[in-house]
Amino acid sequence: EFKALVVNKTDDDFTVKFESLTGDDLPEGDVTIEVHYSSVNYKDGLASIPNGKIVQSYPFVPGIDLAGTVTSSDDSRYKEGDKVIATSYGIGVSHYGGYSEYARVPGEWVVPLPEGLSMKEAMTLGTAGFTAALSIHQLEESGIAPESGEILVTGATGGVGSVAVSMLSKRGYHVTASTGKESEHEYLKSLGATNIVSREEVTPEKVRPIGNQRWAGAVDPVGGKTLAAVLSNTKYGGAVAVSGLTGGGDVPTSVFPFILRGVNLLGIDSVYCPKPLRETLWKRMATDLKPYGLEEISNEISFGDLPQTLSDILNGKVRGRTVVNVKNG
Ligand code: NAP
Repeated sequence: EFKALVVNKTDDDFTVKFESLTGDDLPEGDVTIEVHYSSVNYKDGLASIPNGKIVQSYPFVPGIDLAGTVTSSDDSRYKEGDKVIATSYGIGVSHYGGYSEYARVPGEWVVPLPEGLSMKEAMTLGTAGFTAALSIHQLEESGIAPESGEILVTGATGGVGSVAVSMLSKRGYHVTASTGKESEHEYLKSLGATNIVSREEVTPEKVRPIGNQRWAGAVDPVGGKTLAAVLSNTKYGGAVAVSGLTGGGDVPTSVFPFILRGVNLLGIDSVYCPKPLRETLWKRMATDLKPYGLEEISNEISFGDLPQTLSDILNGKVRGRTVVNVKNG
């Protein structure tokens, strides 16, 4: 028997509570993992409310990120004792996730823990860190380099945002962090932001189709009207990597940034990112993209604290990345 956080929905009830499960409750998969750490993402918050539109069937164990040790494997690439990471695909959405002392997943979804990262560091990065890394990778693929100019990060105190600020800073970029939290300017500077702007400065009440040329590039996990404003203020030939929708799903933009300034809008999807790039990026996250201030970004909670943090992240009260120590009840 082991402990897991189970969400359940019936016609007239919705519950989020710790329960005892057995190996038979775990879904099919060829690699069984003893989970050491998981993390809290916005999506996990959505998975723990009745109408979050993330979980496909109930009862369910959320947690889109996990790191742990292999206890048994039918996949020849992994053996008992290996330290591994499992994120993305169906994990925490349609396949029981990391909020459990044990998890079982298809071998194809597993990535070896790269040298240079501890399990806790891997979960401090987690899907949010991977998304930041993928965003930076795509910006660089489209020709953005430190000498291109100022790079904007929106939602900068959030999971994707915090990690993006620190990764960009490590790579030598001039990073401008946009935040709605006035109290967190020092935090963002400690992550390496060279300049801090308010949400209102980035997104004025009325967004013009084409505005001043300010950003060489942007990492945007906010989307919505913010994305429209960012596009309008992106320099000729610049690029914007969009990964999220905390600011809304509708983007009131026009063709002008694209056809007058050659701006590129880069779509970022971590979930089905192909395995070769996934492994390359995890290795980079352990080396050239490994932030200096990972401890600064990381807030460790015990397994028991999880329900509270899941609700906090939906209320925008979480700063940086929350790591769940599943071994600490
Ligand atoms: P998070 O930790 O909650 O961060 C979101 C941040 O956005 C907040 O900390 C806040 O930062 C800012 N924000 C919140 N409400 C806002 C609003 N109404 N308008 C403007 N800014 C607002 O969430 P996360 O885990 O980093 O995820 C961020 C987004 O990326 C989510 O939409 C998530 O679903 C998405 N995501 C996508 C992928 C992918 O593969 N595409 C992967 C991971 C995450 P400030 O207070 O500093 O402004």
